[in-house]
Amino acid sequence: MAKTKPTIRCSSLPILNRCFGMLGATLTVGVEQDVAIAGTEHHAYAAQLIREGKAPDMATMDPDASFIRARIRMAWDAIKEDFPDPQVEKQLVQQLPNFQLCGHPDLYGVQDGVLRVPDWKSGYNTDADVLPQLMGYAYLAHCEIPKDVQISRVELSVVWLRDKTIQEWEFTPTQVREWMRDLHKRAGAWNGNDFTAGEHCHYCPRFHDCPARVALARSAVQDIMDLDVATATRADMCERLPDVYSRVQMVRRQIDAFSRWLRGEIQKNGPMVCGPEKILRLQPRNKAILDVQKGWDTFRSVLSDDELAKCMNISKTKVLAAVGEKSPPRQKGKDQAAMMLRLEEAGAITIKPETALQWVKTLEEDKE
Ligand code: SF4
Repeated sequence: MAKTKPTIRCSSLPILNRCFGMLGATLTVGVEQDVAIAGTEHHAYAAQLIREGKAPDMATMDPDASFIRARIRMAWDAIKEDFPDPQVEKQLVQQLPNFQLCGHPDLYGVQDGVLRVPDWKSGYNTDADVLPQLMGYAYLAHCEIPKDVQISRVELSVVWLRDKTIQEWEFTPTQVREWMRDLHKRAGAWNGNDFTAGEHCHYCPRFHDCPARVALARSAVQDIMDLDVATATRADMCERLPDVYSRVQMVRRQIDAFSRWLRGEIQKNGPMVCGPEKILRLQPRNKAILDVQKGWDTFRSVLSDDELAKCMNISKTKVLAAVGEKSPPRQKGKDQAAMMLRLEEAGAITIKPETALQWVKTLEEDKE
C-alpha cells in the first residue's frame, strides 16, 4: 500500500526540527494539536482588529483577556504602517516531496520589497524555539507572492504580548528557502528508527503512540525509583538533570492525563467493576459551603471587622468581572483599571512572589 504523505503544520516545525519521529505517525500530523493551542481567542481578536481596522466588540469577563487585548491593540498600532495590505490568518499550503506543509500565519504583508511575518504569542517570553515555526510561515508566505514582486528581505518577529518584548530575525528569501530545503532533506533521510525525545514530546502529535517516548518514560520511572532522595546531592544529579527532568515531566503529564481519563470515564459510564470485590466508583462527599450574603448578618454579629477579614478570601478575577458587568459599553477596561488603582492606593494589593522551575540558557546576572 502506498504510504500517505504526512501533513505538517508550521506549529509542529519546532518539534520536527528536533525529532523526525512524527513522520512515522499514521495520523495527519499537527492538526489536533493546533486547535488546542492556548491563545486562540486572542488570535481571533487580533485577526478581527486588523481586518476591520477597529477594536472588535467582543465581550469578555476575563480581566486577563482584556489585558492581552489591550496589548494586541498597542502592538498593532505600533506596526500597522508597515502593512498596507495585511494578510490575516490565511490558510497556506505547499506540497513538498516528503510532506505537505501547511499553516496560517497570524499576519504577513509586503512593503517596498520586504516580507514581514509577525506572530502574536500570549504567553510569557521563554527560551522556546519559536524560529522554525516562523521560518515555515515565511516559506509559505513567500511562495504566495507573485513572481514579479521582488523580495529582498524577510523580517520575522514574535510579539510576546504579556511582557511586551519582541524577538526579531532578518533573512534573505534564499536563506528561508535553504532552511526549508535542509529540513526537508533531513526529513527525507530519516531512517524511521532514530528519535530525539525530550520536553518537546508533550506537544508532539505522535505523543501517544511513539515507541521512543514509551521507552523513555519507562527509563524515567526507573531513574526515579533508583534515586534515594534522602542522600541525593546536587553534584550527583546536576549533569543528568536536564535529561532526567524532561523525562520525569513527561511521565507526570501522562499520569495527569490518566487520572483525568479515569474520572471522566467513571463519571460518564458509572462504577468500573474490575474483579471480585474490586469496584472503583466516584464517591460523593458533602462539603459545607458558606453563603456569604445569607450569613452576613450572623458573621457581623459574632466577629469584628478584623476577625472577619482574616476569614475572607476575595477573588480578584471575580471582583473585576463584577465591576466590568456594571460598566457601560467600552468603559469596562477603564473601570476595572480604576478599581485596581483604588485598591492599590488603599494598600489592598500585595504581590505574593511565586516560583516555578524553568530552564534558561543563561542567568540574568551573567547577561551583563
Ligand atoms: S513523541 Fe518525542 S520522540 Fe516521539 S516522535 Fe514525538 S518528538 Fe519524537
